[in-house]
Amino acid sequence: MSSLPLIQPDAAFIREVMQAGGGDLKKCFQCATCSVVCDLSPQDAPFPRKQMIAAQWGLKDRLLCDPAIWLCHNCGSCTTRCPRQARPGDVMAALRRQAIRHYAFPKFMGKLATEPRALPLVFLLPVLIVLAIALWVPKGPATPDLEFANLFPIPALEALYFTVSGLVLVAFGVGLVRYLKALKKCCPETILNLPPASAEIITHERFAQCSENQGVRWGHALVLWGFLGLAFIGTAVGLGTMTGLLRTPLPMGGAFKILANAGAAVILAGCIILLKERLGDAARRAASSYFDWFFLWTLTAVVLTGILSQFLRLAQIAYLMYPVYFVHLVLTLSLFLYAPYSKFAHLAYRTAAMASTEPWIPKRRKSRRISEQGAEHCVDFYS
Ligand code: SF4
Ligand code: SF4
Repeated sequence: MSSLPLIQPDAAFIREVMQAGGGDLKKCFQCATCSVVCDLSPQDAPFPRKQMIAAQWGLKDRLLCDPAIWLCHNCGSCTTRCPRQARPGDVMAALRRQAIRHYAFPKFMGKLATEPRALPLVFLLPVLIVLAIALWVPKGPATPDLEFANLFPIPALEALYFTVSGLVLVAFGVGLVRYLKALKKCCPETILNLPPASAEIITHERFAQCSENQGVRWGHALVLWGFLGLAFIGTAVGLGTMTGLLRTPLPMGGAFKILANAGAAVILAGCIILLKERLGDAARRAASSYFDWFFLWTLTAVVLTGILSQFLRLAQIAYLMYPVYFVHLVLTLSLFLYAPYSKFAHLAYRTAAMASTEPWIPKRRKSRRISEQGAEHCVDFYS
């Protein structure tokens, strides 16, 4: 006699998903309208209907390894059309938040960064670090012109950002390894096909398939392109100053400065589009959580304070330029420190999920075949 699979609902997980934004998930009666209206839901592994019932049953392990939760771009189309107001798009977003918390390394950072009550603490740590550098790290001789280095020693800041970047990469690496192990356990036939997934992430081609999400597509893409550009320039300038090849402040007409300002402008344009999309749409605004706002506002504030600091330095307004630069440093450090636990983490987890399921790139027959195997296996996993 064949044995029936044993289902072990996790009541705590159901509560967590409901608190994280999926509060209406129990209203779902499995009509599948959501899967039909979703432009991104593949025929061979449709979502989010299956994820709705799995969430109702509290199937934590299955949901947190399910690549489909990362394939949703949160356009809200399914939420608008759900006849039961079960808000499937919000449930998918809540599941992604739970996944980031679940795979976070170290765990307490995942909780700290996603808990609104911990917001003062979240900023307190970067404030103390930047203050300590300003107060206790020895500075070079004061320059005739006002420079940030007169108060915030640049070599100490460079060392801080390189150290934090290294720690963040380790945290991302451990989180990703945990996720990939879970993915392999759920779908043993999964093969990661990274090149097409990376190309897809860079071009945002998949967003184009979602008719509801065109504004977000461009906002998202601009933020990503600007961020990648600034990460490259920041690393080059950091290495240049540490080895003595470059000196800050960089000349305004120099290639690095022009590229850095162009990168900041591109990110700012992306942030403005994303804020407009969220604030201008009542349904999207209502569905946005602390998790969504924290990353978006912090990133916007980083870029704005960076641009403002530069103008204040050029204008030599001492009583404003140092405080604004201090805020800029604190926000930048916060963005870095909490990247593996904030919405930024989507970049890593979504890339991995897309690399494991690539049914939307029909030109690449090989990747399609591989991904369909993986996707079908995951479908079986739910049935
Ligand atoms: S979430 Fe709504 S649309 Fe989707 S299956 Fe449930 S009731 Fe139907
Ligand atoms: S929110 Fe949009 S992308 Fe996500 S499942 Fe619903 S319709 Fe699909």
